[in-house]
Amino acid sequence: MQEERIALVRPQMGTSRALTVRRYGKPGNGPKAYFQAALHADELPGVLTLHHLETLLKEADAKGEITGEIVVVPFANPIGFTQYVDMKPLGRFELRSGQNFNRYYPDLSAALIAAVDGKLGQDADENVKLIRAELRRLIVQHRKDISPLTDLQDLRLTLAELAIDADYVLDLHCDWEAPMHLYISDHNWPDAADLSAQIGSECSLIAEISGDNPFDEAFSRPWVELRRTYGDKFPIPMATLATTIELRGDRDVYDTFAIPDALNMFKFLQRRGMIAGDPGPLPEAKCDATPLSGVDRVSALHGGMVVFGVEAGAMVKAGQELGYVLDCETGEKTPFSSRTDGVLYSRLGTRLVVPGGYLCSVAGAEPLPGREGQLLLSK
Ligand SMILES: [Zn+2]
Repeated sequence: MQEERIALVRPQMGTSRALTVRRYGKPGNGPKAYFQAALHADELPGVLTLHHLETLLKEADAKGEITGEIVVVPFANPIGFTQYVDMKPLGRFELRSGQNFNRYYPDLSAALIAAVDGKLGQDADENVKLIRAELRRLIVQHRKDISPLTDLQDLRLTLAELAIDADYVLDLHCDWEAPMHLYISDHNWPDAADLSAQIGSECSLIAEISGDNPFDEAFSRPWVELRRTYGDKFPIPMATLATTIELRGDRDVYDTFAIPDALNMFKFLQRRGMIAGDPGPLPEAKCDATPLSGVDRVSALHGGMVVFGVEAGAMVKAGQELGYVLDCETGEKTPFSSRTDGVLYSRLGTRLVVPGGYLCSVAGAEPLPGREGQLLLSK
C-alpha cells in the first residue's frame, strides 16, 4: 500500500487542506477500482465502510492477493469537513459559493470524441487502452485550461484526475433516511446487476443524465458519448462502471452495517478480477433497476411538521397515505401520497417542512409525466 497526501490550492493565507489517497496493487496490472467517501462531507457511513474495506485490502495486500489496482480516498472533502452552522455540520454545499460538492465535474466527452478521431480500430481492448490514454492526457490539459484558483475547483479536478482511467468508480454517499440504494448510468445496466445484488441494494436507479454532471457521470458519460458517435463502426465497450452508492441514512454509522458492506465490496472486487479468491455465490437481488424518471418526489403543500406513517424502505402503493403535514396554527392537516407504486427509498431527515419542501421519494417502475431534464435535486 502506498499513501499519498495531495495538497489542495490554499484557500487563504494561513490555511491549507489536503487529500489522503491510498493505493493498493500496481497500476496497469489489472482492472482499476476507485473508491471515495464523504464527497458530501457530512455523509459518513461510507467513511466507516472504507475504513473496514481497507482492513480487508491490507490483509489481501500482505498475502499478495491484490491482482488489480485499487485507489481509496477515505474522505473526499476536507473543505466540507470544517463547515458548521449553528453547531450542525453542513457538507453538501460549499458555504462560500453555494455550490453542491457533487456537481460540475469536468465533462471530457466532446474533447475525447475529437481526440480519438481516426485512431480507433477493430480491436476492442486496444480501443479501450487508447481511450484511457487520451482521457489521462485530456484531464492534464483540462487542469492547464481552467488553472484552478479555488480549493473547491482544485478538489473537483484532483478527484477527477484520480478516477479518470478507472474501470470502476464507486462514490459512497448516503441519504437522510433510506435503505441501501444506488444511482448508475442506464448504459452500465445490467452489467452492474452483480454489484447491486452483492451490496443488497433495495432500489437501483438508472438514468443517462441526471443533471449538472455529478461525480460518477464524469466517468461514465464519455464512454456513452463515444459509443454513440463511433459505436456503429468500431467496438467500444462501456469500459467504466461508475456509480453513486447511498449507504442508507446519514445516521446509519454502525459497524453492524459497515463491516458487511465492506465485505460485499471486497467480494465485488474479487468477482471483477482485482483481488484473488472466490467471492462465493452472488446473493439474490433485492430489486431490479428502475428509471430515475420513475421517481416521484413528494413535497409538502404547506408548511408545518411532517408526521411519517411509513418507514423508509417500505413498498407503497400509489395514493396510499404515507404520512401528513400538520400546521398547528391553522389546524390544517394534509395527508400526502405518491403517484406511483414502488419503494419509498428516501425520507426527509428533519421534521419541520416549508411549503413545497421535500418529504420523500418513491421509485416506480415506469417513467412519470413531467420527470424530464434535471432528474436529481441539485440544490
Ligand atoms: Zn451525497
